[in-house]
Amino acid sequence: MARRHSYGAESGASGAIRVILCAAFLFFCTNSATAADPIRPPNIVLILADDLGYGDLGCYGAKDIRTPNLDRMAREGTRFTNFCVAQPVCTASRAAIMSGCYPNRIGMAGALNHTSTIGIHPDEVLLPELCQQKGYATAHYGKWHLGTRPVFFPTRNGFDEWVGLPYSNDNGPLHPTVRGIPALPLYANDKVIATDPDQSQFTKLFTEKAVGFIKTNKAKPFFVYLPHIMPHVPIFASEPFKGKSGRGLYGDVVEELDWSVGEIFKAIKECNLDNDTLVLFLSDNGPFLSYGSHAGSAGRFREGKLTTFEGGVCVPFLARWPGKIAEGMVCDELMTGLDLLPTIAKVIGSDLPKVKIDGVDLSPLLLCVKGAKGRDSFGYFSGSELHAVRSGKWKLHFPHEYLTVNGIAGKDGKPANHEKIKPDAIEESGIRGIASRHGYKVEKLELSLFDLEADPGESKNVAASQQAVVERLKALGNDLRRDLGDPLTGIKGAGLRSPGHDKTTPKP
Ligand code: MG
Repeated sequence: MARRHSYGAESGASGAIRVILCAAFLFFCTNSATAADPIRPPNIVLILADDLGYGDLGCYGAKDIRTPNLDRMAREGTRFTNFCVAQPVCTASRAAIMSGCYPNRIGMAGALNHTSTIGIHPDEVLLPELCQQKGYATAHYGKWHLGTRPVFFPTRNGFDEWVGLPYSNDNGPLHPTVRGIPALPLYANDKVIATDPDQSQFTKLFTEKAVGFIKTNKAKPFFVYLPHIMPHVPIFASEPFKGKSGRGLYGDVVEELDWSVGEIFKAIKECNLDNDTLVLFLSDNGPFLSYGSHAGSAGRFREGKLTTFEGGVCVPFLARWPGKIAEGMVCDELMTGLDLLPTIAKVIGSDLPKVKIDGVDLSPLLLCVKGAKGRDSFGYFSGSELHAVRSGKWKLHFPHEYLTVNGIAGKDGKPANHEKIKPDAIEESGIRGIASRHGYKVEKLELSLFDLEADPGESKNVAASQQAVVERLKALGNDLRRDLGDPLTGIKGAGLRSPGHDKTTPKP
């Protein structure tokens, strides 16, 4: 039975027994796992799925998608139930994971596309750069999304090599609703090696690359970043997985991702590196719900991708490191994408970037140190807008607009209301542009306080009966606004940094 690491859900005798069980294990953990092994720091394998929902894995309650390798990873490690990515969209979420910063702090909110001339600023110090400084071999296979132009590519930001896409796989002729986008380029380092490649081969290709890199570099510490293209629309599975799941093509795609995780573990074991390797698995944001049968499930949470409800930001997060991370633990503490850089930095014995970051070192939580706590608070931004603030079980939404599925969700790769979408319409920016391209409608939320422990689906506004909590969270919101700004209240942030700009390189 899973043991729990919780911020308040436990009470009474069973809770006390669990605490004792944990304490016994934690004695082992804290006495065997210190931050950095002086002989060999651990390898880091960071696997991302794209738009995978909280409810899409067996270990998170999925019934019709088989994920034996990820379920085993959960049994052999820790499964987090309150892990939030920084923003509910690809670029922003990844920017936070790579930099430890709120993405709007570094000018990387939202999602870049093939026309974008900005990218991650060269002065930002990213996670792979910290690894390189510690002598790690580093590789990236999959979607980058922190700059479309070569000047921003992974090889300029701490990766020895990369193979993948500079932006999302819908950003080409296969876009579900927009026509006229140029061919999708597949890169190996700075070279385009294919255009409009067969997307059914992506999961296999990046898995094979990662396995090859692990085997080649087994004699020294390595950092492998494997941000898969799938299951972001348009979705594809390779032949052996087609038609095999109980959830149509979407389930097939997730089952192939699970196979990929199994291959990575096989390679790690073959290289006799099981006890030397920290493997992390998460999704970059919640499910793209307008796409219906081609989208995932947010499980118990409200809404999905592109919204700051938990369905958009709370994602599966698994951590496995035999002998260092407890087996079969379930952690309910709050951790976020912001915290991965400082947490991994501690684990590998690296200094932090000199500039301000927003993540906190949660390595004690990751390594199951007795009494370790999660983050105190977290700001839910959408682009530059501050939508909500969280502290413990409380989440206060400030008044904001949000996207919700307009009527019946789409199927077979089409979003809701696809017949009304004009494929060559000039793209409107902002929330209405997204709504018009993906079949959503825009609704308004008033000031709302939710108790996420009792009401993870954010359905009961209890602001009226919890005025002291509302005032405390409002003050946290004001602190965030002074630092990072908020167009909804007209406040300019004092702590913003610029993204990199490239106006000279031709479009790829
Ligand atoms: Mg995504």
